[in-house]
Amino acid sequence: RQSLKIGLIPADGIGKEVIPAAKKVLEAIGSDIPKPEFVPLLAGWEVFQRTGSALPEETVEALKECDGALFGAVSSPTRRVTGYSSPIVALRKELDLYANVRPVVSVAANPGDKPAIDLVVVRENTECLYVKQEQIVSTENGREARATRLITERASRRIGKMAFELALGRPRKQVTIIHKSNVLSLTDGLFRETVRAVPRLAEVNGRYDSVKIEEQIVDSAVYRLFREPQIYDVMVAPNLYGDILSDAAAALVGSLGLVPSVNASDKFVMGEPVHGSAPDIEGKGIANPLAAIRSSALMLRFLGYPAPADRIDRAVDQVIREGEVLTPDLGGKSSTQDVLDAVLKKL
Ligand code: NAD
Ligand code: MN
Repeated sequence: RQSLKIGLIPADGIGKEVIPAAKKVLEAIGSDIPKPEFVPLLAGWEVFQRTGSALPEETVEALKECDGALFGAVSSPTRRVTGYSSPIVALRKELDLYANVRPVVSVAANPGDKPAIDLVVVRENTECLYVKQEQIVSTENGREARATRLITERASRRIGKMAFELALGRPRKQVTIIHKSNVLSLTDGLFRETVRAVPRLAEVNGRYDSVKIEEQIVDSAVYRLFREPQIYDVMVAPNLYGDILSDAAAALVGSLGLVPSVNASDKFVMGEPVHGSAPDIEGKGIANPLAAIRSSALMLRFLGYPAPADRIDRAVDQVIREGEVLTPDLGGKSSTQDVLDAVLKKL
């Protein structure tokens, strides 16, 4: 690549404060990556109110020309608003970003020590209950609501491959399949069997033979996640379980303001902090930019630049470890800008 074309979609609330910080970090990386070229793009509640579209067509088209993207956060109205639907869910669909990858890592007391928590949730991002096929009918006993839960072999296989591929690059090389096939034998049964079969696929050609496969029923997985998070390495789950598990796992490391993610397909990757638009602190200049900064590192990793990604993660870890420049969510008194400056200095 001559240059790296990165779509920037700050969207709403603190997204507009943390995405510029992540941009500054990418600009500071220097010659470890092709010179980044940023493409500012619109999405979210604010642009919906102005134009009637939460995800303008130009945004989707422009993203198709980019190598990667960073997304901030959207504010979703609590009431139902005609014509509005979440742009992030739509983007995942439009660009077929089938994997949501959320590493949850604590910072060890000393550099080089093993962190107490080091796991990654790999969430299927396109189906399960999120196909949003709901029906409500009146019966003689009152209303009855139903939802379709879709699990396909194709989606389970590709998310399974993503999980094994990630495990291969990690010291413990372990994949835990999360399911509830004791009750949902057909849907979760298909997910579990399909992921289990990935290492035996002909095209995989023994590549994942060194990866250990475990499995865990989803409810006990949450219980064990809180009691002994160190038992997990890569957790792969259908959409809804993965959504819940990854937010729960984020609680283990202290603040939503620390946890990054990417939405990925085989062709495109979009970094996104796990947190929302935080209307309670919007405009105060105290949003923690570290989740967005870590998301930019994760994006680089997926684009094939692990060394600069490591540099960013090490700088962030150092700032957290020293504990002198932290935003209020981590008990500090510093601003978004102070934390950004501290990270840039460590870089
Ligand atoms: P939230 O993540 O925005 O905030 C939860 C709490 O964590 C708040 O107290 C907030 O101040 C704090 N927090 C979050 N990120 C922080 C950061 N970087 N630094 C410091 N503190 C931080 O969740 P919410 O309050 O439930 O939702 C607010 C809005 O965000 C809603 O409109 C919701 O729909 C939206 N949301 C969007 C996404 C997304 O864009 N993917 C995800 C979750 C929520
Ligand atoms: Mn969620």
